[in-house]
Amino acid sequence: EPIVLTQNLVKIYGQGLTAVHALKGINLTIQPGEFVAVMGPSGCGKSTLLHLIGGLDRPTSGTVIVDGENLTQLSDDQVTALRRRKMGFIFQFFNLIPVLNALENAALPMILDGTRSDEAFKRAREWLERVGLGQRLNHKPSELSGGEQQRVAIARALASDPAIILADEPTGNLDSRASEDIAMLLRQISSEWGRTILLVTHDPRIAAYADRIVFLKDGQIVDETVMERRNGEQ
Ligand code: ADP
Ligand code: ADP
Repeated sequence: EPIVLTQNLVKIYGQGLTAVHALKGINLTIQPGEFVAVMGPSGCGKSTLLHLIGGLDRPTSGTVIVDGENLTQLSDDQVTALRRRKMGFIFQFFNLIPVLNALENAALPMILDGTRSDEAFKRAREWLERVGLGQRLNHKPSELSGGEQQRVAIARALASDPAIILADEPTGNLDSRASEDIAMLLRQISSEWGRTILLVTHDPRIAAYADRIVFLKDGQIVDETVMERRNGEQ
């Protein structure tokens, strides 16, 4: 069973003469463990698609099914609950809390969700170590580089063990070296730890790390490429 299934997904902002047809019938399937990149120029509908799959906004028509649950049939409260249980978000801006250190930032969503704090800190520490920040647990965001701050955000997203990671231009605020490092880390999270990832980016060098690239133009899927990787290559 796929983790994400969208059927004839349409999003129109506004109405009448000023209506913007942001998505014009998107059919997208993401299987468990897949790393899918959605690529396309600014304004093609990438963020809209990610927001609809993440339950941050509602479609004009069509359906979104995440891990077997039809978002379009759920109430706002039910969607919020599903988002907390099943989705991990990574954004362009890291949204870390300045007064908290890396470990506290990564553990906070689990604690707010009712996970016992010793368990939350254990899982946060485990993921911070995996993303290479084992030596930075006590550092505040201001004491970390942009790439390191994004790693904290990635650890925070993964620590609650979501069914899917939704990443919206996660390298948009990083220099090209740090961007490539983050793309490699997402690749590793997929191939080594089997997590499912939907990445939205306008950058072909970043999209190239995915298993599959879906090309979006003017609200429609216009092409799709499955990346070839040699045996043993990550
Ligand atoms: P991308 O992420 O690829 O840059 P978006 O999904 O942000 O594209 O936008 C797709 C289209 O929808 C664009 O024309 C954008 O201006 C428009 N759009 C996005 N959000 C809104 C909104 N809240 N209200 C009106 N138009 C919007
Ligand atoms: P992104 O980098 O995510 O594509 P945008 O600059 O497209 O960001 O959009 C930033 C915010 O503004 C989003 O919440 C989007 O929905 C909203 N937005 C984008 N285009 C429009 C628009 N034409 N009218 C109103 N809101 C918009």
